[in-house]
Amino acid sequence: MDHFTYQDGILHAEHVPLPEIAASVGTPFYCYSAATLTRHYQVFAEAFREIPTLICFAVKANGNLAVLRTLARLGAGADTVSEGEIRKALAAGVPPQKIVFSGVGKTRGEMRFALKSGIGQFNVESPEELEILSEEAVAHGGKARVTIRVNPDVDAGSHDKISTGRKTDKFGVAWESVLPSSARARVLPGIRIVGVTCHIGSQLTKLEPFRAAFARIVHLVKELRAGGHTIEVLDLGGGLGIPYDSAKEIPPLPADYARMVLDQVQHLGCKLMLEPGRLIAGNAGILVARVVLTKRTPHRTFVIVDAGMNDLMRPSLYDAWHEILPVKEANGDASPVDVVGPVCETADVFGKQRLLPAMQPGDLLAFRSCGAYGASMASTYNARLLVPEVMAHGDAFHIIRARQSYEAMLASDSIPSWLE
Ligand SMILES: *Cc1c(COP(=O)(O)O)cnc(C)c1O
Repeated sequence: MDHFTYQDGILHAEHVPLPEIAASVGTPFYCYSAATLTRHYQVFAEAFREIPTLICFAVKANGNLAVLRTLARLGAGADTVSEGEIRKALAAGVPPQKIVFSGVGKTRGEMRFALKSGIGQFNVESPEELEILSEEAVAHGGKARVTIRVNPDVDAGSHDKISTGRKTDKFGVAWESVLPSSARARVLPGIRIVGVTCHIGSQLTKLEPFRAAFARIVHLVKELRAGGHTIEVLDLGGGLGIPYDSAKEIPPLPADYARMVLDQVQHLGCKLMLEPGRLIAGNAGILVARVVLTKRTPHRTFVIVDAGMNDLMRPSLYDAWHEILPVKEANGDASPVDVVGPVCETADVFGKQRLLPAMQPGDLLAFRSCGAYGASMASTYNARLLVPEVMAHGDAFHIIRARQSYEAMLASDSIPSWLE
């Protein structure tokens, strides 16, 4: 459930009419609903109330400070994959102990920053990384709290580009290397192994791959304990999908996911950690664009909007499907059109053969389910400005990131002296 609904024929974010926001900040813009974010977090957290659980929001899904603070206020921690994301989480008010640092390529500089910041946990993805982290932790004067991210060799059955748990994917310690790595970690002076973690992919719409991966992890925890390791943390990653196209995909409800997780892991007595990103933020945001013109050729009708693949990469990168709605509710005839952006790439397509009413220049369109991996993946390709982000809250809205300016864009390049 979200808070983007038609009221008197106009699409609103909570109680704010989208045309009002468009008039204030221009188009395109991202718009989030504070109530939807809050609701999604609470529904998920509630599903796990039976055992101590820390929910670390995956910052890469949406790193806006206002989004992070909304979640931090509710008790969320942060799953981060770079120094920049750690800095964002800290700036948003996430306590350092609730910050997890994941990723296959943490640099020494990033490790030092994380150690200095006192973050709660490093999810280590290779034996090589363990050695480096140990050195940095010793230099810092302590031990790093570490979980081993295991590659369970499970196919998430999601899109190829967002599956992460197969043995040929770059993520996690290979299954057969987990026990040797854990043994090695015991003699490394800068490492304290506290648990295991896995994350098998994103936008999973079935429970089975999770179940298969978690069963392997449970088995592993027992083996590690039998080997004398203290395993107190179980971090099961993120990945639960959302209904982008509710006619086609019905992902499991958080409550069903939680039941499956608890049935498998509760008896271990571990502290549970989860790292949802998309599930919390995905349907809490939309992208609003204005129609530039409708181009009719003998073969196709193209509705060309002022947002492009640089603003929302998912359709071009993952063939992702986003529902496209006219901001002014239409009852008339609809016909199939291709909704495309202005970027000079054939891949700059938001939707093919979508049924939409006749769109006039200046009309507004909304792309649903853009709160995760939307703004956070945006670029300035084609020298297009990063678009603003707005958060609606009741009948008010706040600009939580202003549109980039052309001055800032030009000022970030510099001309070498020999060209002056
Ligand atoms: C991307 C990622 C997540 C979040 O995935 P979602 O599909 O957005 O829930 C969680 N943990 C790790 C390690 C990730 O890389």
